Amino acid sequence: MVQSGGGRSRPRANGSLFSAAERPDVRWRDLQSIPPRPAAVLLDIGETILREYSYDLSAGLLALDIRQDADTLLRDLQDSLDHVHDSNSGEFRVARWLADNRESFAKQGSIPELELALFHATARREPMPGVAQALCTLSGAGLALGCISNAVFSGPVLRSGLEHHGLASDLGFVLSSADLDIRKPDPRIFSAGLSKVGLPASSAWFVGDSWTADVEGAAAAGLFPVWLSRSKEPAPSEVPCARVGSWPELCSLVVNSLAA
Ligand SMILES: [Mg+2]
Repeated sequence: MVQSGGGRSRPRANGSLFSAAERPDVRWRDLQSIPPRPAAVLLDIGETILREYSYDLSAGLLALDIRQDADTLLRDLQDSLDHVHDSNSGEFRVARWLADNRESFAKQGSIPELELALFHATARREPMPGVAQALCTLSGAGLALGCISNAVFSGPVLRSGLEHHGLASDLGFVLSSADLDIRKPDPRIFSAGLSKVGLPASSAWFVGDSWTADVEGAAAAGLFPVWLSRSKEPAPSEVPCARVGSWPELCSLVVNSLAA
C-alpha cells in the first residue's frame, strides 16, 4: 500500500519519483517532474469503474421485442457499428440507430428508454473491487470527479448504469463519445470533460485501463495520466504516467499527493 504523509519527494536521477521501497505498489514511469496536485480526477468507465461480462448485442435486441427477423436486425446493427469504428469517423450512436429502426421494435417507450433497456440487457456489469469506497474518499477530499467513456451508449445511459451500482452520486458529469461523436484519444473529448468542471488540464488526472485511449490520450490533452493495469506487462510506449493495479492503490496515490 502506498504510504501517506511526509514531504513531497524530488524526482530521482533515473526519473522515478519514488523508490520501490517507498512506493511498492505504484510504478512511476520516466517522470521528469512531479505530477500536478490534482483538483480533478477524471475517469474511464469500462474496465476501470465497471467490469463488463458476457457482452451480447442479440440479447439486448431481444429485450426490445423485435417485430422482424432478429438475425437481420442484429447484422444491420453490427455492420453499422463496425463501419463507423473501422472508418474511424467518430462514434456509433445506438440512440440514433434505434430511432432509425423504431418500427422494428414492439416495446413501448421513448428512444432514451429503449436505449436504456438495450444497455442493461446487453451485458452484465459489476463494479471493480474497491471503486465505491475510493470514489467516496476522493469526493470527500474535495476533488471534482467525472467520467469520459468511449461508448456507443449516451452519457445519461452510462450514468444510469453507474447509478444502478450506487456509483454515480459523487460524479459531476458522465460524458460519452456517443454524445460528441468524438472518441478518446482525441484531445477534444478531454477538453469537453474539463469544461464541465471548469478546470485546466494541468490540474486534472485521468485514470483508465487503455494505454492508447486513456494514457496517451490524456497526456496529449495535458492531463496527468494514471494507468490502471493489473497485468505485469510493460507499458507499450514511453509516456510519463503513474501505474496502479487497483482502486485502493489509486486512492492512496491521490490522497498522498494531496497530503504532500
Ligand atoms: Mg476502459
